[in-house]
Amino acid sequence: MSRLLFLFAIAALIYLLFKSFRKNLPHEHRQIEEDMVRCSHCGVHVPVSESLRAGGQVFCCTAHRDAGK
Ligand SMILES: [Zn+2]
Repeated sequence: MSRLLFLFAIAALIYLLFKSFRKNLPHEHRQIEEDMVRCSHCGVHVPVSESLRAGGQVFCCTAHRDAGK
């Protein structure tokens, strides 16, 4: 009987982990979409934290920023 309770506890734990994982997934996806910007030179989408800004435009790397000058 204790073995059955143990199995039930494991199943409940897996269910809760799966539930929390599914709950976090759409939030992370939305966060990534919000933080993406488009390079004015090549059109590649880069995260805001990795992008470079110059003259009101956004670039993916220093080479493309300098090419726009
Ligand atoms: Zn670029």
